[in-house]
Amino acid sequence: METLSTPLVSLPRHPNPTPLTVDNGHRDHPVFSLINLCSTIKQLKQIHAHMLRTGLFLDPYSASKLFKATALSSFSSLEYARQVFDQIPQPNLFTFNTLIRIYSFSSEPIQSVKIFLRMLSESPYYPNKFTFPFLIKAAAEIARLPVGQVFHGMAIKSSLGDDVYILNSLIHFYSSCGDLDMAYRVFVMIDNKDVVSWNSMISGFVQGGRFEMALELFREMEVDNAKPNDVTMVGLLSGCAKKRDLELGRWVCSYIEKKQIKMDLTMSNAMLDMFVKCGTLEDAKRLFDKMEEKDIISWTTMIDGYAKLGEYDAARCVLDVMPRQEIATWNALISAYEQNGKPKEALAIFHELQLSKNVIPDEVTFVSALSACAQLGAMDVGEQIYANIKNRGVKLNCYLTTSLIDMYSKCGNLDKALEVFNSVKRRDIFVWSAMIAGLAMYGKGRAAIDLFFKMQEARVKPNAVTFTNILCACSHAGLVEEGRMFFNQMEPVYGVVPGFMHYACMVDILGRAGLLDEAAELIEKMSITPSASVWGALLGACKIHGNVELAEQACSRLLELEPENHGALVLLSNIYAKTGKWDNVSELRKRMRVSGLKKEPGSSSVEINGVIHKFLAADNSHPLGKEIYSKLDEIMTRLKSLGYVPNKSHLLQLVEEEEVQEQALNLHSEKLAIAFGLISVKPSQPIRIVKNLRVCGDCHSVAKLISRVYDRDIFLRDRYRFHHFSGGQCSCMDYW
Ligand code: ZN
Ligand code: ZN
Repeated sequence: METLSTPLVSLPRHPNPTPLTVDNGHRDHPVFSLINLCSTIKQLKQIHAHMLRTGLFLDPYSASKLFKATALSSFSSLEYARQVFDQIPQPNLFTFNTLIRIYSFSSEPIQSVKIFLRMLSESPYYPNKFTFPFLIKAAAEIARLPVGQVFHGMAIKSSLGDDVYILNSLIHFYSSCGDLDMAYRVFVMIDNKDVVSWNSMISGFVQGGRFEMALELFREMEVDNAKPNDVTMVGLLSGCAKKRDLELGRWVCSYIEKKQIKMDLTMSNAMLDMFVKCGTLEDAKRLFDKMEEKDIISWTTMIDGYAKLGEYDAARCVLDVMPRQEIATWNALISAYEQNGKPKEALAIFHELQLSKNVIPDEVTFVSALSACAQLGAMDVGEQIYANIKNRGVKLNCYLTTSLIDMYSKCGNLDKALEVFNSVKRRDIFVWSAMIAGLAMYGKGRAAIDLFFKMQEARVKPNAVTFTNILCACSHAGLVEEGRMFFNQMEPVYGVVPGFMHYACMVDILGRAGLLDEAAELIEKMSITPSASVWGALLGACKIHGNVELAEQACSRLLELEPENHGALVLLSNIYAKTGKWDNVSELRKRMRVSGLKKEPGSSSVEINGVIHKFLAADNSHPLGKEIYSKLDEIMTRLKSLGYVPNKSHLLQLVEEEEVQEQALNLHSEKLAIAFGLISVKPSQPIRIVKNLRVCGDCHSVAKLISRVYDRDIFLRDRYRFHHFSGGQCSCMDYW
């Protein structure tokens, strides 16, 4: 035999191929036993070449023998199987069914449907009971209800309507398309239910959030004398995890033990997941230590569990003792830090990962790391990560593109964000939305709206996130008419039901423009109960326009929902101060002291050469503290000589940062950060600051003046938006 070194040539399909009889003496051809002995793809290809040469391949039965081996052996590939299939002049029903089946398990389930259509149009065969289950599985994978319904109908017409395999696959199909009622109707119809029927329906109910029904079915199973197996129990455990029902979860575990149901790795992992989700790490740990076999899922579940509870050291320990480290576990740790407000720690782990030789970061790692940079405003580090992505030849998928745009926008470099956006060809809804959010943060409302319409030209449908961003853009740019238009079109035109965020944005848009009554009316007419964010937006607007009465209402409603909201009381106190109600101010302050409400301390960060320097108000901890304070003195003297007067109203008001003392205003964290930036950042470079709370009016004025006097651009991101100070002006036009 010779090897097939040239690529496979497709045999031209003869329009009227000579029909080879099925049983033409090839049935026991010696080649068949050779096919069964193959253990490498190379050997298969040799036989393939031989069969082509001898003409044996032209016989559908013989071809199906070879095809079966290429399609189902562990050493072969789907790609090769498809090549072989395409060469067969007249594939038989078995061949069609096999290809439909393997595609239904592949990453391209739609191919099953395509092959099926080809079978109907090009072959004399009609689908049988081996065709439908996998066709229906493919329809479930692509989640197309109408497609599966057609197959359901065809199965009935073919008198296969009561085949239990087909009905089981229909239960799975209807459940995964979200039609649980139809799934249940199919289930009830089955006379001879097997354990798969029960399991499919139970897992359908669990996935669809109808856990009570799943439990009910489980009880019926016993009555029906159907024996639950490991799959049944995994389904129930996953339900307990979803419902955070530890008691029931424990009961399921004891049931498994009592009935001696097979405990394999999947089952152990399901138990582990249930314990972790229900918050009992001790049980999880006990089980984990007992498990003889562990896989990546087991390790990741433990790391995730510890990290979510804030036990980072324990999470770290799990990672360290893993026999073979895999990127998924590192990712679990990095993302746990990043999502729990510990971006600095996330980056530290990411850095460590880069030094390790055993594992290579993947897309998921980069997405988490970039998001940590975005939180911190760490653009240098973000750029290094971007360079790393390019160096490793990682292709930018939509997740990465979104993360890069988000990172650059939040780090104060809108131009770079736009550069990334313009450089990619594939843009999904999240990429578009991230760019709209970027423009919104910088107060570029018109540009955001333009982009929204370009997105529609590109036939990408806006979702709830897009609307939050576009309304936010209108709010930051004071575009009332446009905001109203988008809000009113959301549901009727785009089918997106307004949620809390959309109402909060709309209240903000109206409130800022002084349309307080309209804003209050909108809240009254809300179809959902207003959230704290909605009342917060109204309260913020009341502060701008000094409306005490409405502010008191909004504040008390907000405190009903969030009694710990310190920011709300600060805002109310400031409204009292602004309108000269000093008695109310002192009363409120007393109340705040007595209740001991927790305050979030204000802090500002600057990144210098990849290192984040964080300042609190009146912070003395920085090694360059002396230089920073003398720079600050110099700045203040210089500004005062030019006529700057510290904004007394801000002195008299409570600022979110801390209670007012004479000096406090000058020592706000952003002022320290700016002073430090002036010392440390090259004169040609802008200073980029990230502040965790809203910037106060005095710091805002000071930053504007500094940008002119020191001829320096300053980008300041506060909790709500970006301020770009340049030449004595701010990009927000003092509207924030
Ligand atoms: Zn300030
Ligand atoms: Zn500003």
